[in-house]
Amino acid sequence: MSQPNNDQQQPENVSGNEKQSYNHDDVARYYKANLDIESNRHYIEKTREQINELEQSESVELFQRQVALLQKRLLNDPKFFQQMFITEGTSAIAWEFQQNKLSKKFTLTFWELLLKNDDMSSLLLRFIWNLPLKRKRKFIRAIDKHLCERYPMFKGLSQGWPGENNIPPYIRPPGERNEDFDLVNQGYIGYMGLGYSFREVEMLVWLEVLRDKQCDDRPCEIGIPHDDGSEADGGCPVKIHIPEMLHLIGEGKFKQAFDLIKESNPLPNVTGRVCPQEIQCQGVCTLNKRPIEIGQLEWYLPQSEKVLNPDDDFALADHENPWAKAEKPPIAIVGSGPAGMINAYLLAKDGYPVTVFEAFHELGGVLRYGIPEFRLPNELIDDVERKITILGGKFVTNFIVGKTTTLEALKRAGFWKIFIGTGAGLPRFMNVPGEHMNGIMSANEFLTRVNLMKAHLEDYETPLPKVRGKQVIVIGGGNTAMDAARTARRLGGNVTIVYRRTQDEMPVRVEELHHATEEGIDLKQLRAPREFIGNDKTHFVTDTILDVMQLGEPDASGRRRPVVTGESEEMKVDLVIMALGNASNPIVKDAEPELKTSKWGTIEVRSDSQETSMDNVYTGGDANRGGSTAIKAAGDGMSAAKEIAGDIPFSASEIKSLVATAENYTLQGQAPQRILERIELAEGIVELVVYSPLIAKAARAGQFVRVLAWDKGELVPMTLADWDAEQGTIVLVIQGLGSSSMKINQMQVGDAFAGIAGPLGLCSKLNQYEHGETVVFTAGGVGLPPVYPIMREHLRMGNHVTLISGFRTKDLMFWAEADERIGLLQTEYPDLLDVIYTTNDGSFGLNAFVTGPLEDMLEKMKAGNGRTIGEVVTIGPPLMMRAVSDLTKPYGVKTVASLNSIMVDATGMCGACMVPVTIDGKMVRKHACIDGPELDSHIIDWDKFLPRFMQFKKQEDESKVRHGFA
Ligand code: FAD
Repeated sequence: MSQPNNDQQQPENVSGNEKQSYNHDDVARYYKANLDIESNRHYIEKTREQINELEQSESVELFQRQVALLQKRLLNDPKFFQQMFITEGTSAIAWEFQQNKLSKKFTLTFWELLLKNDDMSSLLLRFIWNLPLKRKRKFIRAIDKHLCERYPMFKGLSQGWPGENNIPPYIRPPGERNEDFDLVNQGYIGYMGLGYSFREVEMLVWLEVLRDKQCDDRPCEIGIPHDDGSEADGGCPVKIHIPEMLHLIGEGKFKQAFDLIKESNPLPNVTGRVCPQEIQCQGVCTLNKRPIEIGQLEWYLPQSEKVLNPDDDFALADHENPWAKAEKPPIAIVGSGPAGMINAYLLAKDGYPVTVFEAFHELGGVLRYGIPEFRLPNELIDDVERKITILGGKFVTNFIVGKTTTLEALKRAGFWKIFIGTGAGLPRFMNVPGEHMNGIMSANEFLTRVNLMKAHLEDYETPLPKVRGKQVIVIGGGNTAMDAARTARRLGGNVTIVYRRTQDEMPVRVEELHHATEEGIDLKQLRAPREFIGNDKTHFVTDTILDVMQLGEPDASGRRRPVVTGESEEMKVDLVIMALGNASNPIVKDAEPELKTSKWGTIEVRSDSQETSMDNVYTGGDANRGGSTAIKAAGDGMSAAKEIAGDIPFSASEIKSLVATAENYTLQGQAPQRILERIELAEGIVELVVYSPLIAKAARAGQFVRVLAWDKGELVPMTLADWDAEQGTIVLVIQGLGSSSMKINQMQVGDAFAGIAGPLGLCSKLNQYEHGETVVFTAGGVGLPPVYPIMREHLRMGNHVTLISGFRTKDLMFWAEADERIGLLQTEYPDLLDVIYTTNDGSFGLNAFVTGPLEDMLEKMKAGNGRTIGEVVTIGPPLMMRAVSDLTKPYGVKTVASLNSIMVDATGMCGACMVPVTIDGKMVRKHACIDGPELDSHIIDWDKFLPRFMQFKKQEDESKVRHGFA
């Protein structure tokens, strides 16, 4: 029982008529008597008498009635009393803070109050946040001293606080993390894994914020402006109101702080983790020795929301589906990286029906296929996808704008405006001797194989070079290099990063480099590969010669230029990963002559706008900036969303019609690509007719598709054998050679592919031959299906065609009957089409390779008694193509080979389908997916190219054994 204080005001509205005063002395004596009873039994009797007497007194009676009323009020309105006690309590606390030091008892009690997470604790947080720095320091000294056993991270915190010391986020120790792909920097929330409660973690975050000085000129948000008006140094590209965010956290208002961030950045959980804060918000922090951990706070807020409300991360129940509402015209977003996703999210939130068209089968762009999960878990990208879906946004994957359709066609399909967020996904290479060798690949390829295709996991099909125990070098000094190096390390490689400047000039996030070296990755500075040397038999790289560099004068980037010293050194290598940055992918630009691009291939925008040279087409992110950062891409996506949501020039019925058309188009893009017909052409060779209406509409002779047969399968290129735009079908012919093609061969009518993208590559260049020249096709085995649509086009143009179709044996032949494809063409074009069949065993047609009859034709032509050969097109096994090429070269007959190289993304992003060609005596790197698949066979360096087909032979053999196909 507590004793009433004479000075204490009686609650004002305890009750109207009971609000009379009583004699305080009587009440005090009454309480004392009660206490005496409890504390001193000797006086019990005497005291009892006193109590009886006092209980009869008017004062005590009145007091008792008021206590009863207070109790009632306490039950009905507990907050009131809380406030009353809080006011009392804070005065006492304020008094404590005026003392020289905070006592242990006070500190422990105070901390317990903070942990309660109630009104009192909020008030205390606010109280401390508003204290002058010197009093805050007193608090920090007290927790350093009295709480460091319970919280080891408090130990020494007061040394140099606030500018030079802080509580860092929780980073998993290197020994624990360098074998797995779990998150390395677990942030403040990671302390929960060590057994701290959620509230304790909240307090760690609050302690970090307590260091903030609330600078008037807000450098973290707006950067440090330049007098000439050029872009400020540092600051936040999306202008998160950082000082206000810190103020809200300082006052314990975590939820409000999160709401504030969301207004300017819908992806804080992503950008907080991957932004280069050290050159942006934190780089200009006035606590320059140890800036406030703004990035960590940025992602702590959404992450903590998830911990608190795991099932309710997105309260948008009242958001009406914009497609159903049909009050705003549809918008198409091309690319699902941060630029596209933010754009889609904001427009969907604003009531626009949006469809995101993405080239890959998964969403997220670089965030998914580039940045590994140990830095950015995929579930965060899934989260964004889910949010956009809740808002009514739609996604069409395996859709390549510039190939599957054009921007103009998207507009015709009902989309009012388009945002292009296609990134900058074309990897750069060094173009040094030996770069064509097996075991040398781009970081894009390596990371896509691991991050997107999960090549390192047993139950996934994508092959990966052996990494465990191998000498891996990663060339480059940016985030991509670090990600590739750390990934290779996790796969068991002995990894060295080779960089031509010094560590100081590296464009990498400081944290990543630090983590990489902690994980046991070596750094070779001032070194650049001059040449790669390989094994003559395996064609795998074995060594590299590195130029020793030194730093010269600064270049355009302001960094000192690396200069060759003339010295060199040799290094053993098994796997080389090139992380030299990305250039712009030409696919969209090549398909849209009206779209203005810079000399670097980036899409240009109008001044102070995100709109491109094409009306109603906007862009942003890496597509416009070249390789940049996630937050800048997100910022562009936001700015574009604001511009896109302008005045709508349509009537309500026009909008409804646009929405209906665009929705129908979207549905076609989303339709499962199912097998409608399956024909066994020969032993191990099947023809599949697949529903894929948008590819069927766009397909041209000579193109191919990228097939993902099942979720854990691999991405394989397959040539289009035929298509029917009206029926919405495409035809694939598959010979089961490797385990993937063998599994595809087993698919049945009704089965759906996980995704088919295309049509890809350039279509055939069809020349009209005016003087009766013949176009010779040499088709080896299943080279016939890709040959078929090209020769059909030549026939339709009126060109004469000679088909030399070769098979190993009669049993493997197909389409030769009168009612089959080649037979039907012969009937349709009896004067234009000659067909010569060859078999290796003589079981049908000529007993010869395709080169046999071709040589006859060449000889006759040379002798002047045969048809002139306009050109030769050769498609089939690589060795056959090479033989044809070697044969025709001395005759000077133009020869084109259609290359079915090893590819991953098949849109230029990985560089795996590299074809070394010689132009003007120089070796030039071409890519089968974007420069081909048809290339002038006479400039291909076949000696270098052919071994590339064998680079995953070992993995393929292992896979066959695994699947029981060996
Ligand atoms: P992207 O993320 O590249 O997304 C483009 C999307 O468009 C892709 O999904 C692509 O498949 C799709 N696409 C391309 N062409 C077409 C087409 N024709 N039709 C349909 N879809 C198409 N930045 C940071 O800020 N911090 C980091 O730590 C960081 N680390 C990185 C690590 C790696 C390995 C890489 C490669 C980049 C890193 N970056 C980092 C850079 C950052 O990821 C990019 O700046 C950012 O992702 C660009 O976003 P975007 O939306 O413009 O394009």
